[in-house]
Formats: sequence, structure tokens, C-alpha cells
Amino acid sequence: MLNGKHLIAGEWLDSDSTFSSQPAHGPAHNFTAGTAKLVQRACEAAEDSFWSYGYSSRETRAAFLNRIADEIEAFGDQITEIGCQETGLPEARLIGERGRTVGQLRLFAEHVLKGDYLDRRHDSALPDRQPLPRPELYMVQRPIGPVAIFGASNFPLAFSTAGGDTAAALAAGCPVVVKGHSAHPGTGELVAQAIEKAVKAMDLHPGVFNLIQGGKRDVGAALVQHPLVRAVGFTGSLGGGRALFDLCASREEPIPFFGELGSVNPMFLLPHSLSSRAEAMGEGWSSSLTMGAGQFCTNPGIAVVQSGADAERFVAAATKALEQVGAQTMLTDGIAAAYRDGRDRIRANSSVQEILTTTCDLRNATPYLFRVTAREWLANDVLAEEVFGPLGLVVEAEDAAEMTAVAKGLKGQLTCTVHMNEDDTAQAQALMPILERKAGRVLVNGFPTGVEVSDTMVHGGPYPASTNFGATSVGTLSIRRFLRPVCFQNMPEALLPQDLK
Ligand code: NAP
Repeated sequence: MLNGKHLIAGEWLDSDSTFSSQPAHGPAHNFTAGTAKLVQRACEAAEDSFWSYGYSSRETRAAFLNRIADEIEAFGDQITEIGCQETGLPEARLIGERGRTVGQLRLFAEHVLKGDYLDRRHDSALPDRQPLPRPELYMVQRPIGPVAIFGASNFPLAFSTAGGDTAAALAAGCPVVVKGHSAHPGTGELVAQAIEKAVKAMDLHPGVFNLIQGGKRDVGAALVQHPLVRAVGFTGSLGGGRALFDLCASREEPIPFFGELGSVNPMFLLPHSLSSRAEAMGEGWSSSLTMGAGQFCTNPGIAVVQSGADAERFVAAATKALEQVGAQTMLTDGIAAAYRDGRDRIRANSSVQEILTTTCDLRNATPYLFRVTAREWLANDVLAEEVFGPLGLVVEAEDAAEMTAVAKGLKGQLTCTVHMNEDDTAQAQALMPILERKAGRVLVNGFPTGVEVSDTMVHGGPYPASTNFGATSVGTLSIRRFLRPVCFQNMPEALLPQDLK
């Protein structure tokens, strides 16, 4: 049952104004809108809880994370139902995403128990060292305090209320204030109810988790500027992320803003691989491009080929496959409108040729396919920007040198992909030093949609893929964002943190 309120320090609170959800189907619900006053209460509650939660044992936090996973599973079908209604995503996707979400929570429970993430270091005392003795030194990673979290519309569970950022922050020992996403407020509330049950079951300070529903942009702005917030985890658009990043940087005390933003995820199709499997690549690209109406941050929006007969085979196969894909519901009216704007931006460029024309309107997306020469692509920055949806652009290089120039011309990416055969190895070797400077993940002979949640995963990259290229938002390494190294010098054992004893 939805109550339409904000969860702050264990109480469900409301405010004077409301907003309505805009589901793709099913009934709309009213939610009370967030306010700066609620932000203040939530941040104070989170700070209060830090004095116990930040010093809790790793066993306690692991049990808490596992309990949240259990409670989310117990809500199972209710979350799936409202998630499908609010986002228009199919049931199988919501069920799969719930599995990933509880899997992330349990992975972090295991991770904190192992303790490797603490990166504990020790320099023994050298009292007889000349010319000066060395004191005994310890180093350990400590939680930073309250963290603000913004999820994205396209992952209502895995990158939202109890998503990867929340799991990583709670695992580290940081209380959380989630700014609920206005595209899925009901899904967010049910997940918050599940977390509330876990907080009570574990008898934790209730300020450890807080949810403020959105409704207005000033809620997010107030949250990232609140003096008690120590860092922000954000998943969403480049425009929104940049606006909030700038607010963080202009605070009297600037704080890190970990923004995971958009990407065009280029694929480089090397000549021998194209010659041997142009049709399969065209069909594979079509599936990856249109999966989930193309609403994935890892959607491969650009395919770079060397012009010639094999490139034509690839384009023909992709066009044929994309023609079969009908209209798909997008996450929100705003995202559907932004998709059409993106299409028009590409179309407006006279050097671009439209290969597949469809008609999309309202909240629907149909695929589009365009082609452009590498020279024109390099001359037009707008062609390198993300269009969030099932839109593909084929970039045709005259030769290997021009393909390399395209690689060098890329902005920061979440992923770069190389399709190759053994005979392409020399060309791939020449591309690798460039691509590893451009992306958080480089892959061969695959499609980038589908991110493994594991110890080695890096989901980030140079700007504009993310605002902090030293971090990842997926996988166990993401806990680092919410930790701070502290050195303890000449410390009696009684004063050392528990994790160093
Ligand atoms: P979004 O519109 O940027 O929204 C994300 C969150 O930020 C929402 O809570 C939104 O509030 C808030 N927000 C946006 N602009 C704001 C501003 N100027 N001031 C204050 N708050 C602001 O992004 P989205 O539509 O949810 O997600 C789609 C985008 O996310 C795509 O570009 C996609 O590529 C990217 N994405 C990236 C990753 C990744 O890991 N890199 C993963 C998934 C998605 P409201 O609720 O009020 O809208």
C-alpha cells in the first residue's frame, strides 16, 4: 500500500504540495512533494545516525544489507506491478532487475565481511632509526558520513532507492538520503518501505535511511548543498548531473559528486571481422540498440566501419533488422520528447543521411538509423552526443587512419567495443591505447549493454561519461567512493578503530 509520503528518521511525513505520478499504464497516484525543510530534517537524521551506524561492525552492516534484500524480495510482485506501470518496462525486466538489486546488496554484504576493501596498512615503529625515529603508523579506510543519492529513470530498482549507490554507501557505513525519482515514485516508496522494515528488524538508528520524494528540482539542489552531506552518488543525464556537480563544486565546502552520466558507446568494426560476419553484426547491433527501447546508458549508438562492400552489407542487415522493431513505450513523456529532439538534432545536419525513417510520437520510440562520413562526424560535435533511445549512427571511415582519428576524437565513454578477427589484431592493437584512455570498459566481440556486477567491473569513465574517472558506480569497487583513508599515528590499541584491532 502506498502512502505517498517521505520517509525521514523512521517517520512517514508529508508536505503542503503534491504531485502526481505519470504511469505508462494503470492508475496515477498522488505523492507529497519534497521541500528544503524536509531535506534539512533528513540530513540531520542521517548525521545523527552516523554516530552509531558509522561505527557499527561489518557483521551488523552485512546482516542489514542481507535483510534489506530479503524484505525487497518479500514485496516481490507488488514492486513489479507498480514498476511496470510507472516505467512501461515489461514484467520480465522488472523481475530481472529486482534479482540484480538484491544480488548487489548480498554481494556487498559478502564484500564487507571479507574486509579487503579496508586496504589496511601498517608501518611498524622504528625507534632507533637515524636521524629520526619512525612512529608506528596504521592506515584504514573509514566511512565519510551522510551520502545523497539520485537514481535514474531507466533502472527503477538497480540504480535507484536501494540500488548500487545505496548498497555501496550502507556497506561502507554511511547513512543515506535518497532523492526519489519523479518517474517512479511508487516503486521508490515500496522499496523504502522494505528498507524501513530492515532498519526496524536490525534495531538501527532510523536516520540511517531516508527517502525524500521529488516533484521539484529545488529538492535535489537543496540536498547536494546541505552542509551535512559528505558526497553525492548520481545516475542520470549529463544536463542534470552537470547542474548538480556545479552546485557541489560551488559549496563553501566542496564535496565529491560521483555522477554516472550518458555515453554513446562506440563500436569499431574492423575489416576482417566485417568481411566474415557483416550480417550477424548488423542484426546483433539492431538487438542491442533497441533493447529496452534503447534506454540504456551502455547503448551502442555509434558503429564505426571502413567504407566498402562489407560496410554496405552491415548497413543493409542492420536496416532490415531495425525495420522489424515496432514502437516501444519510453520511460516518461519527457524522455520520449527528448528522443525526438535528439533525432532532429542529428537530422538537421546536412552531411547526415537518414537510412531508416520511422514515425514516433507521444510516449513511443521507433528506431532510426543514420550514416555520416568520418570526416563530417569529426567536424560536428553534436553527432557525438548521446541520443537516449534506439537511434544508431554509422560512421564511415575511408581507411584505418581515419578510424583511428575517430577514436582519438571521442569524448569520454562508459564503454568502447572492438569487433575483430585474428587478422585484425594489428589494427586492434593500434586502437587499444586510445580506447583505454577514452572508456571505463573496453570490450571485444560483444555488445556493451549488460553490465556484470562483480569485483572487476568498472562502470564509469572520463567526462562526460562520469564526473569522476577514478570511480565506478557498479561492482564492489564502487564502495571506495564513500570511504576516506585515515592514518593513525602512535595510537594506543584502545584508541584504534575496530577494523584495525
Ligand atoms: P535525469 O533527468 O538527469 O534525472 C536523474 C535525477 O536527477 C532525478 O532525480 C532528477 O529529478 C534529478 N535532476 C535532474 N536534473 C536536475 C536538476 N537540474 N536539478 C536537480 N535535480 C535534477 O536522468 P534520467 O532521465 O533519470 O536518466 C536517463 C539518463 O541517465 C540517460 O542520459 C542515461 O544515459 C543516464 N544513465 C546513466 C547511467 C550510468 O551508469 N552512467 C545509468 C543509467 C542511466 P526529477 O525526479 O525531478 O526528474
